[in-house]
Amino acid sequence: MERAYFDWNATSPLRREAHAAVVAALGVTGNASSVHAEGRAARRLVEEAREQVAHLVGAEAKNVTFTSGATEANMLALTPALEVVGRKEPRDRLFVSAIEHPSVLSGGRFAAGEVEEMPVTSDGVLDLGALELGMKKAQRPLVSVMLANNETGVIQPIPEIAEVVHAESGVLHVDAVQAPGRIGCDMTTLGADLLTISSHKLGGPQGAGALIRRDDVQIFEPLIKGGGQERGLRGGTENVAGIAGFGAAAVVAKATDAPRMTALRQRLENGIKSITPLAVIFGENAPRLPNTTFFAVPGMKAETAIIAFDLNGIAVSSGAACSSGKVQASHVLAAMGVELTLARGAVRVSLGWKTTESEIEQFLRTWNILAGSLLKERRGIAA
Ligand code: PMP
Repeated sequence: MERAYFDWNATSPLRREAHAAVVAALGVTGNASSVHAEGRAARRLVEEAREQVAHLVGAEAKNVTFTSGATEANMLALTPALEVVGRKEPRDRLFVSAIEHPSVLSGGRFAAGEVEEMPVTSDGVLDLGALELGMKKAQRPLVSVMLANNETGVIQPIPEIAEVVHAESGVLHVDAVQAPGRIGCDMTTLGADLLTISSHKLGGPQGAGALIRRDDVQIFEPLIKGGGQERGLRGGTENVAGIAGFGAAAVVAKATDAPRMTALRQRLENGIKSITPLAVIFGENAPRLPNTTFFAVPGMKAETAIIAFDLNGIAVSSGAACSSGKVQASHVLAAMGVELTLARGAVRVSLGWKTTESEIEQFLRTWNILAGSLLKERRGIAA
């Protein structure tokens, strides 16, 4: 049985170009901090990748800090210790949207009492009124809002958010992990002061990511102290092969595959609705990533559905892939006001550059067979 992978928002396959870059870098012996020829060879790979990642988001290479992934980049960004245009005064409050990734919801290095969650509408878009109110409560706010949600794919109006934040001397951090290769993520167009991306979501290897800063925003307290690597912002010998693969993937991800993915997703959603007319597609009326469908049918249990799909050769997820492997009701759907019983049945189907029309048909054939039994089984339990 051919397997079909529909969990691109959790991680994407390695791009051919990234694979080649990783293999080549593994053949380089030097430590990127060493001054000899071997060290300089490793350094060249890291700096080339820094240029490539900077180019993807329209930033300057010197403002890219490599990390172990987006979780660490978010933790590095969410600190009171931010200097903006030469003003070394700590940020006094952090505002995050209620639908952020747990690494942002955790509040980073702010004390729990200094973090405020902002609500979203039932479409999963940040409530701009709440943002405006929040900005009045702080002198030097830091705001963190994601560009696109990993579960629903809903895109936030970041340029508008940036205007509100900047009007109140705020700093805006944007978790753009789900954007590259799908929608644009140019920092200037977005108005982001700090931006996070992750290698393995855009076709690079797992275990590399970056925090990118605007030129006049500095962090004066590293998260990991050590040997002064990454301009003193991230101690530890660089993951040269991971970073090289990240850079190679970033070059390819500069071009988006949106029209093709939109067409495939449309076919998928039309098919789901015609097989199960009661299906609810979350965030359907908001601008969404072209690759993501998050849906539920009343009476369905996500855990059972995912296992059934898996046994039939199809990899889907229940929203956020959580490390424990346990399916929990989504905090994103809760923030959108979705009833818990419906949220418990939510299944996420996410596509990517390798997804084909025949895989979409395979999904729909399988759904056609499974839907009847999954829903019947639930009705049986309820009776
Ligand atoms: N932010 C978002 C929006 C994500 O989807 C993820 C991964 N699920 C992360 C952050 C964390 O990324 P990483 O796996 O690179 O730590």
